[in-house]
Amino acid sequence: FDRMRQGLAKTQASLVGRIDTLLRGSKAIDADLLEELEEILITADLGMKTTQDLVGALQQRLQRNELTDMETLRRALQDELTARLRLEAAPLDLSAAAPFVIMVVGVNGVGKTTTIGKLARQFKAQGKKVVLGAGDTFRAAAAEQLGIWGERSGVEVIRHKEGADPAAVAFDAAKAALARKADVLILDTAGRLHTKANLMEELKKVRRVLGREIPGAPHETLLVLDATTGQNALTQARLFNEAVEVTGIALTKLDGTAKGGIIVAIGNELALPVRYVGIGEGVEDLRPFDPEVFVAALFK
Ligand code: GDP
Repeated sequence: FDRMRQGLAKTQASLVGRIDTLLRGSKAIDADLLEELEEILITADLGMKTTQDLVGALQQRLQRNELTDMETLRRALQDELTARLRLEAAPLDLSAAAPFVIMVVGVNGVGKTTTIGKLARQFKAQGKKVVLGAGDTFRAAAAEQLGIWGERSGVEVIRHKEGADPAAVAFDAAKAALARKADVLILDTAGRLHTKANLMEELKKVRRVLGREIPGAPHETLLVLDATTGQNALTQARLFNEAVEVTGIALTKLDGTAKGGIIVAIGNELALPVRYVGIGEGVEDLRPFDPEVFVAALFK
């Protein structure tokens, strides 16, 4: 919990810090106050729709005379925020298939390789047998980095030469996962967005290969987004979603941004569950997203 608080320090300051200043300086809970609150929520990247929903709910509470003082208003805001985030959170159920196949997609630099490495470590620590597929054959560094994570965690990594066909890596990785009776296969993919059309075709092909080798695969198409990119993250999500039907989000680098409110906008505008949040570089800093803990850490 303390780690989460630390990781959210910037968002804490930009969101809750400003709200607390507003509440301290206000005498009455009225339309003016709610309007100022609305502005803070928008600035913290919560997104227009979510902000309006939240403020609307507070207005109703006000009319019902439930907001007697600043403290009840603050608590009401926490409740409304938690309720909305809860709809957008869902843990991965790895027991749903064997091997459970996670195809990881996202633009270069968002933290895709690191996220895969951390997940592999965590699954291994839970006693799962994990196989990794280095499907980003475009960047030699990506496969190398994945190899290092694999070595550190004692997890097998299926790699091909630089420039090889990613679908061939997917094929071999699927075969290896089946042969080893792995519990989880995590497949990395390329994220070079400057050849957008090619990339999306490539991802579709990789997806088809996985589905042909393992029934129902990929069971999860996890999109990695970088919280520091703000509204750009939403654009990326729409793009990938069109091509490969994203089923969940990992939101990285929340520790590096004051715009952590983007997590609400992502769930709300894309209707995709946030599975994991990244709050630092350590293995344990990638966490299953828990709305209660998240909001409690913000409002502490
Ligand atoms: P990729 O190009 O998407 O594979 O990105 P990488 O996995 O190589 O990550 C890019 C950088 O972001 C690395 O320096 C990571 O350590 C860093 N990174 C990833 N996730 C987080 C996070 O949650 N917080 C912070 N502070 N850094 C992160």
